[in-house]
Amino acid sequence: MSKNHHLRTLLAWLVAVFVLPLPFLYTFVQGLPAGMEGQKLAIANGIIAYVWMLLAIYIGTKPKWLDRLIGLPVAYMIHGILSMVAIFLAMLHKSASPSYGLIALTGNIAFNIFLALLLYSLIFMAGWLTSRVPFLATIKKKLETTFKHEVSLALHRLNLLATFLIFVHIQLIDYIRSNVPFMLVVYLATFFVFFSYLRSKLGKTAQGVQAQLVSNRQLADNIHEFRIQLPAKHDLTLRAGDFVFISFPDIKGLEEPHPFSLVNNPKNSCDIVLAIRGDGDFTRQLQELEAPAQLMVNGGYGLYQTIIDEQAPKEILAISGGIGITPILSIVEANPNIKTTVFHGASTKEALLYEEKFLEWSKRPNFVAHRLVGRFEEEEVLASLPKELNSVTVLISGPAAMARYWMACLEAYGVPKGQIFYEEFGW
Ligand SMILES: Cc1cc2nc3c(=O)[nH]c(=O)nc-3n(C[C@H](O)[C@H](O)[C@H](O)COP(=O)(O)OP(=O)(O)OC[C@H]3O[C@@H](n4cnc5c(N)ncnc54)[C@H](O)[C@@H]3O)c2cc1C
Repeated sequence: MSKNHHLRTLLAWLVAVFVLPLPFLYTFVQGLPAGMEGQKLAIANGIIAYVWMLLAIYIGTKPKWLDRLIGLPVAYMIHGILSMVAIFLAMLHKSASPSYGLIALTGNIAFNIFLALLLYSLIFMAGWLTSRVPFLATIKKKLETTFKHEVSLALHRLNLLATFLIFVHIQLIDYIRSNVPFMLVVYLATFFVFFSYLRSKLGKTAQGVQAQLVSNRQLADNIHEFRIQLPAKHDLTLRAGDFVFISFPDIKGLEEPHPFSLVNNPKNSCDIVLAIRGDGDFTRQLQELEAPAQLMVNGGYGLYQTIIDEQAPKEILAISGGIGITPILSIVEANPNIKTTVFHGASTKEALLYEEKFLEWSKRPNFVAHRLVGRFEEEEVLASLPKELNSVTVLISGPAAMARYWMACLEAYGVPKGQIFYEEFGW
């Protein structure tokens, strides 16, 4: 993870874990009736759980400012881990803080929804977890034919209902309702989060800008290139190496936005180019689509170019596997003045995409590419590093297992951790 990115991520964790619950806990403790002292910890657990659930919903709106700060993959990891801990805290709250009637009913229904969705999400929605735990990845692969990503998204939205039930649960408790400062904080935070959610779904620019698919051509077996023309005037902020969400609201099966990295440098063109591998329903249906077609494009998201700008490296080393080459292509096109070495491995010769681009870039005096079917040897990659390891920024893009292997290898060799950056194709 890049140096500054590392610090920003740490800061984001600190804010999420300690700062956000503070105003809730402070106002709660200040207004706690004397007779309720014994319940303080149990209720505090419930309050922290509620704050983290609100935060999880807010992160689910994919705020662009948060993406540019820490990246969506990291934001989603915070979303997932804090939701898990929140459910544990809610369990402590439930067992140590007895309640009756409607208060118990709303709390219990919400808790059961959270728990069921947590178990489901650990397999189907937590890419940051399944990419690290092969056992969960295997279960996901087996069941994914039935529980498709779109089904998972729909079920995941039940978390909103459960959070709303907790909001009602809070109103039903007399001594909490009469704590005006606390209720004010609860109202402000809840309305802000639900408003942000609705805006992210229904707002005028919620799905991004309307664009036109102008071509769809096959690049290799199961990989197609899509050229998309953006309107002459639009308010998307696109940078090299970014990814965008695309959706086709008028085409059944393609309505849900999916993320894909830019292959080209968006600064040089009104068009954006995507190279997409058919991995599931959306991406395979896309291969059959005929141009022209209307679609929505939202973005940009991603940190590759931000990392380069922050570190201003003398050299870039890019390591990519399979379809993970896409953002690297965009970065190479956009940074011709930085000495760059690319290692790209793929499973077939055809999947070593865009040979013509590599041939063209090879005319640059500061560009070297190594492309092969299979895996690179450690010695070959390490030999390409400069003597001054502080002067290189390493960008990794591809399968999580490959990325973790190279991160460990490069760190062991002495490349500072802060100079290695990997943006996962999933969260
Ligand atoms: C930052 C980023 C950049 C990406 N860039 C590219 C690229 O340049 N080229 C390319 O071929 N692929 C890219 N992907 C992967 C691509 O988004 C998924 O392969 C695609 O969304 C799968 O959708 P599907 O319905 O065809 O397959 P499904 O069978 O529904 O899903 C296959 C897997 O993709 C993931 N996935 C599905 N839908 C989404 C979604 N809406 N958001 C996040 N993950 C999802 C799920 O983990 C699922 O297990 C990128 C992913 C991310 C997160």
